[in-house]
Amino acid sequence: MDLSTPIEQIPRIGPVYQRKLKKLGVKTVRDILFHFPHRYEDFSNLIPIAEVKTDETSCILGKILDIKTTRIWKRKLSVTEAIIEDKTGAIKATWFNQPYLEKVLKPSDIACFAGKVLTGKKGIHLSNPIYEKILKSELHQSSESKLPAIYKDEFTHTARIIPVYPETERLSSRWLRTIIKPLLLAFKSSLDDPLPEKIRKENQFLSLAQALWQVHFPDNLESAEKAKSRFSFEELFNISLFTGRARMRIALNKAPVAPFNIQAVQKLVNSLPYKLTDPQRKSAWQILKDMEKPRPMNRLLEGDVGSGKTVVAAIAALNMIKAGYQIAFMAPTEILAKQHFRTVAVLLQNFKINIGLLTGKEDKFISWKLKNDTVEISRKKLLERTMKEEINILIGTHALIQKQVKFGNLGLVILDEQHRFGVEQRARLQKNSLKQIKSIPHLLSMTATPIPRTLALTIYGDLDLSLIDELPKGRKKIITKAISPEGRKKAYAFLKKHVKLGRQVFVICPRIESGKTSENKPDALGWAEAKAVKEEYEKLSKQIFPDLKIGMLHGKMALKEKERIMRDFKNGKINILVSTSVIEVGIDIPNATVMMIEGAERFGLAQLHQFRGRVGRSKYQSYCLLFSESDTIKTARRLKALVESEDGFELAEKDLEIRGPGDFQGTRQWGIPDLVMNSLKDIRLIEKTRQAAKEILEDDPYLKKYPLLKERIEEFGEKIHLE
Ligand code: ADP
Ligand code: MG
Repeated sequence: MDLSTPIEQIPRIGPVYQRKLKKLGVKTVRDILFHFPHRYEDFSNLIPIAEVKTDETSCILGKILDIKTTRIWKRKLSVTEAIIEDKTGAIKATWFNQPYLEKVLKPSDIACFAGKVLTGKKGIHLSNPIYEKILKSELHQSSESKLPAIYKDEFTHTARIIPVYPETERLSSRWLRTIIKPLLLAFKSSLDDPLPEKIRKENQFLSLAQALWQVHFPDNLESAEKAKSRFSFEELFNISLFTGRARMRIALNKAPVAPFNIQAVQKLVNSLPYKLTDPQRKSAWQILKDMEKPRPMNRLLEGDVGSGKTVVAAIAALNMIKAGYQIAFMAPTEILAKQHFRTVAVLLQNFKINIGLLTGKEDKFISWKLKNDTVEISRKKLLERTMKEEINILIGTHALIQKQVKFGNLGLVILDEQHRFGVEQRARLQKNSLKQIKSIPHLLSMTATPIPRTLALTIYGDLDLSLIDELPKGRKKIITKAISPEGRKKAYAFLKKHVKLGRQVFVICPRIESGKTSENKPDALGWAEAKAVKEEYEKLSKQIFPDLKIGMLHGKMALKEKERIMRDFKNGKINILVSTSVIEVGIDIPNATVMMIEGAERFGLAQLHQFRGRVGRSKYQSYCLLFSESDTIKTARRLKALVESEDGFELAEKDLEIRGPGDFQGTRQWGIPDLVMNSLKDIRLIEKTRQAAKEILEDDPYLKKYPLLKERIEEFGEKIHLE
């Protein structure tokens, strides 16, 4: 048995438990050993029964004198009571609804009991204690209250610091302890450590075997922390190695060279109705410089909502087309793909460029021939033309990476809101192309999610960064206000005023339908109460604004319908659009000036900031009104942060601080354990691990000296693959 042994081969894990574990993503011995406790109980202090104190957690060792269960039928309750004695005295232990204990614990058994001591009607007793029978005969005889230290490891559930695991999927900590402990014992002396010895020494880390032992069954809480610090380091180090290696691998490839075509770029820039901002210029410059090199660009263009990334992408695309190559432009949703299609068509209207639009569900596709307006063509034709290089830019959703889609001569892949795209995927877009060029396309990835520096350095560490940290001039600051329930009437009047002025309004609700939550689950988060789009639409269109045109948009609507609504809103046929978060990314409606958000506590800061970015895209003063149904401090803190700051980066850092990184785009995909999630906030640790990874890779780029490490990194790569 080794760490990669599947859980099916671990003794005592039957099919039911196998299924439960798999639901948690636990498939191998390694996975189960890396299922860490989230806290500990300290039962290491064994005390004589005579010394137990009310309201304290105590652990005692004694002999069972008597045990019996009584049933209280009326209350559907059973109470099991045992009398336990040691040399100093006796005490009662009680358990509710565990009648089987009578079969497990018998009179004259010696056992440890750990739990809280309470004083009730019937006097002092141990309430619902964790028990552990003692099988060793020497211990039987002693019945001493002090245990010789050598016996410490005999205990799993009591008489030591015990691990408490997150009890999801009805996996009890007790069960996990009984499975994990024998595994740890089996590996205690024979576990190869993937972390290079030099790093281990420099940082005084525990070895893998020691650290695993101490994280599950620590000698003391400091050792548990010490073990955790090793694992945090290790995971971040692995991420850094992974991204560092990805960077290296990309650099080993050739890429199409596109000389900076000053004339074409000038012409495009001069045709714009506005002046580019400095960061737009700088980013475009960095991108153009990258594409001049015979090495593939791997760049993330990061800029707040409305900062004008699309035009920068269009400049890059134009330059690449002028060098004789094609562009694949991928957007996360169909609505956004269509929007890009139109925007790019307008931006590049003065050039002889053909643009295709390919989306997922529909079988109809449109090709945009210049001056010929938009024409629909079949998918077959579209693919043919893409292959024959008659289409210069193919815009679409994920459908773009389907096998049938082949480019004649792809030079650049542009991704909107999708950060990672590996060498393989890029190579695949090229495969079977008519000209068998031995290169992979450049990559420009765009995001409006301000990625905190720590995340940018770690999980996006393989990407170079261009930053648009300034909004186009002339934009007014969006006025953001958190509105109390009493302010609702006034807010509606405010909306009406703006519509009368000719502007448009978004109303965002957290869910589609109101009422019960599905699956009859207990609704601890109160989702049943959350404002629903359908209900709000009814209310606004019938009661509040019967004279205005209200539209509704949510994810369950048919695509055609969604598009019609978006078109109507864009053309001003709808005054107020009630929507779920589907309008979150990228939608550009400059005439919309009020963003009203219901149930704001249910969205992350980054997401709220995205919503807010839907307005404030024109010369008109814009507003963001926040309504919430919760008045917790956490909500208040978050809404306050939003009201006070318009800087996406600042908000992202705040969100990281208040909520933790679990909600950041990308982190989930990486399957990063909670332990490491926390250290994703620790910039010093991140820099240290990056440096360590860099040193290793410089010395041994293919990790030949570190086969175990290599194996880990490759597994990791598989886990986070884009498909
Ligand atoms: P995002 O970065 O969120 O994708 P967009 O590219 O959609 O932003 O641009 C938002 C709006 O700003 C668009 O209407 C675009 O025409 C406009 N825009 C872009 N750059 C500038 C600029 N330098 N000055 C004024 N308006 C600009
Ligand atoms: Mg955009």
